[in-house]
Amino acid sequence: MSQTEDLHKRLQELRETINTLSYQYYTLDKPTMSDYEYDMMYRELENIEKEHPEWITPDSPTQRVGSKISGGFAKYTHDRPMLSMGDVFNDQELREFDQRVRDDLGGEDLEYVVELKIDGLAVNLIYEQGQFIRGVTRGDGVTGEDVTNNVRTIRTIPLRIDSDSPHMEIRGEVYMPIPAFEQLNSQRRDDELEPFANPRNAAAGSLRQLDPQITAQRKLAFFAYAIGGTVGIDIPSQEALLQDLKAFHFQVNPEYRKFTNIEDVITFIHSWDDRRDTLGYATDGMVVKVNSFAQQARLGNTVKIPRWAIAYKFPPEQAKTKVLGISVSL
Ligand code: NAD
Repeated sequence: MSQTEDLHKRLQELRETINTLSYQYYTLDKPTMSDYEYDMMYRELENIEKEHPEWITPDSPTQRVGSKISGGFAKYTHDRPMLSMGDVFNDQELREFDQRVRDDLGGEDLEYVVELKIDGLAVNLIYEQGQFIRGVTRGDGVTGEDVTNNVRTIRTIPLRIDSDSPHMEIRGEVYMPIPAFEQLNSQRRDDELEPFANPRNAAAGSLRQLDPQITAQRKLAFFAYAIGGTVGIDIPSQEALLQDLKAFHFQVNPEYRKFTNIEDVITFIHSWDDRRDTLGYATDGMVVKVNSFAQQARLGNTVKIPRWAIAYKFPPEQAKTKVLGISVSL
C-alpha cells in the first residue's frame, strides 16, 4: 500500500471511531474513552483533512457539531445555531489564536474575557415577554431536543425574568455539582445500577430523562454565559452581557476576568492549574472570548465554530503529572 493509501485508510478508521465515540458520548451519555484521547484523535483527523482537503466529505465528524439527537423528545430548530468551539492545548496555540484575531482586526486594540469552561451540556432557554417558554439542548447545533419540562425543575433557572422582549434566548451550561454527582453515584451503586462516568454525563443523562420527576431529584444547576437570537436588546460586550444576565437573576460563574493581552490571559489560565479541583463543579478548560460584540461580529463564525473564541483544554490528570515531572508542554 502506498503512503497516501495508508493515510486514507487511517482517515477512514479515525472517522469511524470518532463517530462511534460521539454517539456513545452525546446520544447515550456513556463515554468509553477519555476526552483527551478523543481530542487527540479528532486533531489527527483534522490534520489529515488539512493536508488533503479533497478528502473532506460532508459526513466527516469534523463537519458537524455534537451528534445525532435521540428520538425521545420533540425536536426544535434553534433560531441561531449553537456552535461548538475551536480548542487549543498549550500556550503557543493560544498565542497563535491571539495573533490571528489581531491580524483579522487589523491590529486594533482588543479585550478578552476569560471564563471557566463548565463541563456540562449547553442549553438554549427561550423567554417571551419575560416568561420562560422553552428549554432546548444544543443537539447537533442546528436542532436540539425540547426538554422544557425538565428544565423547569432546575431551581437556578428563573421561570420569569424582568424583560418585555418578545423573544429572548439565554444560553449556558446545565451541570451537576460534584457533591450531587457523588451522592447520585453512591445511590446508584447501592441500587446496583451503573454509576455515571463523570459529572458531565450525569448532567446530560439527568436532563434527558423522559420523566421530569427523575430530573427534579438530580440537583442540576445552570450557569448562563451567552445570548442567542434575541429581539429588542442591545448589549455591547460579553462583560456587559454577564452583568445583564446577573441582573436577570441567572447564575453567572463569578470567576471570569478581563484582559488586554494574551500573556495575562495565559497567566490567569495557569493560575487554575492547581485549584480547579476545589471548585465544587467540573471544568475541562477555560474559554477565551473577544469582549466587544462589534469585533466578534467582524470576526464572524465558520459553519462550526466562532472565530472570536477559543477553548483552552486542561491536560488530563496523568498528563499533568508528566508535564510537571519532565517539564514538557502538551
Ligand atoms: P467543547 O466542549 O470543546 O466546547 C464547546 C462547548 O463548551 C459549548 O457548547 C458549551 O457547552 C461549553 N461551555 C462551557 N462553558 C462555556 C463558557 N463559559 N462559554 C462558552 N461555552 C462554554 O465542544 P463540544 O462540541 O461540546 O464537544 C467536543 C468535546 O466533547 C470534545 O473535545 C471532547 O472533549 C468531548 N467528547 C468526548 C468524547 C469521548 O468519547 N470522551 C466523545 C465526543 C466528544
